[in-house]
Amino acid sequence: MAIERTLSIIKPDATKRNLTGKINAKFEDAGLRIVAQKRIHLTKAQAGVFYAVHKERPFFDELTTFMASEPVVVQVLEGEDAISKNREVMGATNPADAAPGTVRAEFAESVGENSVHGSDAPETAAVEIAYFFSGLELVG
Ligand code: ATP
Ligand code: MG
Repeated sequence: MAIERTLSIIKPDATKRNLTGKINAKFEDAGLRIVAQKRIHLTKAQAGVFYAVHKERPFFDELTTFMASEPVVVQVLEGEDAISKNREVMGATNPADAAPGTVRAEFAESVGENSVHGSDAPETAAVEIAYFFSGLELVG
């Protein structure tokens, strides 16, 4: 397994409930290292660029409104097989289907307000990391 980097977002429902530290502990306990991190408040337009792949989906407006509703914490996680490992720690998109102990099983409120985002492939991870961070901000 190669060392990978993945883009993670702690979403507004979680930052609002002061869960950043509890979620970060789950990443670190799984062996993922937080090599970059910042708290920002996205505009709806910025959220729309990030989620452009979902532009035609019926939930796009709800999703981008939600992502701009409160601050988010964007972060780069690094580790062995980090992309799939992070998605394991996150759990299924719908918290009703998420395995016990995952972030979404413990913290997510609904399929939309599901506490975390994680890149789904090496190509998307590279694009998503570059959307939020410059090379100088990635400190492994
Ligand atoms: P993410 O991309 O945020 O890591 P994911 O890969 O598990 O999540 P996607 O299918 O890529 O899920 O959907 C992106 C996001 O859109 C979901 O995390 C969720 O916030 C929102 N979303 C997905 N399906 C729905 C839905 N049916 N209703 C409302 N929001 C949804
Ligand atoms: Mg996704």
